[in-house]
Formats: sequence, structure tokens, C-alpha cells
Amino acid sequence: MSCPKCKSNDKVKNGLIKGVQRYLCKQCGCNYTVSSKFLSEKEAKHQLAFSLYSEGHSFHAISRILGVSHVSVMNWVRKRESDVMIFLFIFSHYYLSLKLFF
Ligand SMILES: [Zn+2]
Repeated sequence: MSCPKCKSNDKVKNGLIKGVQRYLCKQCGCNYTVSSKFLSEKEAKHQLAFSLYSEGHSFHAISRILGVSHVSVMNWVRKRESDVMIFLFIFSHYYLSLKLFF
């Protein structure tokens, strides 16, 4: 996935937005997310599972919708949740340090 503005592949991961990986382009400095049409079928399924979970569906309901075992759904969501938590932790830490110094 290259930058939508300058087509550069020179990017760094820059947190998650609603569970979607966001990238920062090192060439032009713009932020972009990888839209679901660029995701593999597997990643798209994980994405959908997490969205459904965020909307309050149970693991069993999601497993029925996606036709996979609820254990797989649980594993995907836990993995995604830990990514989001790490991002929130970094973000809140950054926010607090701004408040302390300015
Ligand atoms: Zn760019």
C-alpha cells in the first residue's frame, strides 16, 4: 500500500484509527489508513469481526455471521484490542506530557 498523495512506499506505522492501521508517509508527511479494499480477505474478516464486536455483538453472534469458530473470533478481537490499548496508552502518555510542559 503506497501513499495516496505521492505514491511513495516510504511509510511508518502511526497508530490505529477505529482499529484500522494508520500510516504516516515519510515523503509528504500525510496520514492515511489502509482501506478495506486493499486488505486481504482474511484481514477484512478480522476487521469486520472487530467492528461487529465494537458494536456490541457477542463472539457467538460474530462467529455465526462470519462462519468461523467463536474461538477464532475471540483471538482476532483480543489481538486487535491489545493493539488499540497500546496505542491509547502511548497517546494518553503523550497527551499528559503535553499538559505538564505547556
Ligand atoms: Zn506521501
